[in-house]
Amino acid sequence: MELETWHLLVLPLFFALGWAAARVDIRHVMRESRAVPASYFKGLNYLLNEQPDKAIEAFVEVAKLDPDTLELHFALGALFRRRGELDRAIRIHQNLVERSDLTQDQRMKALYELAQDFLKAGLLDRAEDLFKRLETGMHALDALRHLLEIYVLEKDWDQAISIAGRLEKLGCPSQHADLAHYHCELALNAMLRKDVAAARQYLAEARGANRKSARALQLLGDLEAQLGDDAAAIASWREMEAANPAYLPIIADRLCQAHARLGRSEEGIELLRGYLARHASADLFHTLFHAVLQARGWQEAERLAAEELKRNPGLRILDDYLQARTADGADGDLETRLAQDLVHKQVSRMAYYQCNDCGFKARQFFWQCPACAHWESIPPERREHE
Ligand SMILES: [Zn+2]
Repeated sequence: MELETWHLLVLPLFFALGWAAARVDIRHVMRESRAVPASYFKGLNYLLNEQPDKAIEAFVEVAKLDPDTLELHFALGALFRRRGELDRAIRIHQNLVERSDLTQDQRMKALYELAQDFLKAGLLDRAEDLFKRLETGMHALDALRHLLEIYVLEKDWDQAISIAGRLEKLGCPSQHADLAHYHCELALNAMLRKDVAAARQYLAEARGANRKSARALQLLGDLEAQLGDDAAAIASWREMEAANPAYLPIIADRLCQAHARLGRSEEGIELLRGYLARHASADLFHTLFHAVLQARGWQEAERLAAEELKRNPGLRILDDYLQARTADGADGDLETRLAQDLVHKQVSRMAYYQCNDCGFKARQFFWQCPACAHWESIPPERREHE
């Protein structure tokens, strides 16, 4: 194809157009960058160099110079709360709440953030007031969850029950297990002030919320025992096996004591032997071991421990066995005594309850973890740890 003269003219024109377009673009970028405060780039630079503290100070500077940067304010507020700098988080969110140029949604968001700051700072009354203002609208579900958290912290069980009911109506995952505990807490308070009728009512409500509530069965038995009706107490605790057998170790000693008070120790022992055959547990065995020791003496206790050791070997059962061996005089030699002492110290050091959710360890059993506040997250059987 022959190259025509006008083609030679078109080429420089294209170059000129490209150059002009690039200049326009660069001018635009320059204008934009002049609009962004220098502190912004300084902040970015610090972030890229992994100096978060300096980056935050630079972004705070941007926020001061340009109060319109709403998202930056929210980001900084959330960051301060996460870092535990609650004074600064509260100041930022309070300023946002007081601004008159915010849309309704933005104001709700600022209120929700501020409420979370107050909650984290332990200012429960102020957090509660704000979450109540957010009970309807875009943050309703989260506000109700936080309100529930506050009422549980404050041990305001009536309010907790009411909020749990509302959460369930809004389609939140089942609150039944926790709800039963709120009723049990109310029952416990009633028992402390000797209001038997109220305690019975709360325990019935606990079982209404959760048919398998191990705690409601335990407390019902405790209530009957307090009233001197050991037969009724035993009947209640005996329901545990069908309802929630994992919790048998928690009521095993109560069962033995009630049987002993009725002069029916042997019946109690046989009941526990049956439980143990169906649900192996070192804690359950330990209770049975002491019941046998009390009713039948060291030799029988030793025979029981030897049997269990074959069936279910473990350090805690060995501890019971060696204790019986050294105590009954049958094998009181020095080596056995030394072994018993060593195993006993090791068991005392290693065996404790542990929360499945947060790893909190305790010598004592808790229905609610003292560290993460979850209910029934601590299994009712002590574990042997390294
Ligand atoms: Zn926990």
